[in-house]
Amino acid sequence: IVVMIGYPLGILFIGQNVRLRIMAQTLDRISSTDELSGLGNRRYFMQEASKRLLGRPQGVGALLYIDIDHFKQLNDNYGHLAGDRVLRALGSAIADCLPEGGIAARIGGEEYTIYLPESQLDEALDLAENIRRHARALSRDQSSEVRPFTVSIGVARRQRGDDLEGLMKAADRQLYQAKRAGRDQVVSEMVAAA
Ligand code: GH3
Ligand code: MG
Ligand code: MG
Repeated sequence: IVVMIGYPLGILFIGQNVRLRIMAQTLDRISSTDELSGLGNRRYFMQEASKRLLGRPQGVGALLYIDIDHFKQLNDNYGHLAGDRVLRALGSAIADCLPEGGIAARIGGEEYTIYLPESQLDEALDLAENIRRHARALSRDQSSEVRPFTVSIGVARRQRGDDLEGLMKAADRQLYQAKRAGRDQVVSEMVAAA
């Protein structure tokens, strides 16, 4: 009886277990991914970035706040599908440029954030400039179906005592300056002060 019933039952339970684990992994991936851009979503970003921030010494790390310029106009002129194509293109531009250890997400609408746990300001600025150029070049490629677009990027380095929200606010302030200064540019505290 043990062999006839116990053995098949055992196999059945192991099979169920494996299936449950795969389902849990799939759910985990779905709940943390932004479908459109292929990057992380807000939930993923807040969770992962705060986790990384906790373990780091004060003053290390930087954050990029990226926003597509005049995106409403692009949607109005060419339609939402063209807009979605731009969101996807920027997602892959960011993925292409992202260094190891960087956490990237579409945080909402046409806004993306990147947290660099180990980086100083100059590295973060290089990455931002790289993404800005990459996005620009990509959308000006004649063979691509992506409508021309540009991005503005605010960069902040982590100051002593900054939590994730403080860091995001600081980068958002720089983004606002980039918009005010005419868009299609990268702005950080140092640059703004100069
Ligand atoms: P600015 O240069 O100042 O950033 O101007 P903007 O037009 O980019 O900013 P605004 O906040 O006025 O408009 C954002 C637009 O993004 C409005 C909204 O319709 C569009 N949007 C948000 N999410 C999506 C999306 O998932 N797909 C598409 N196609 N558009 C989206
Ligand atoms: Mg915006
Ligand atoms: Mg915008």
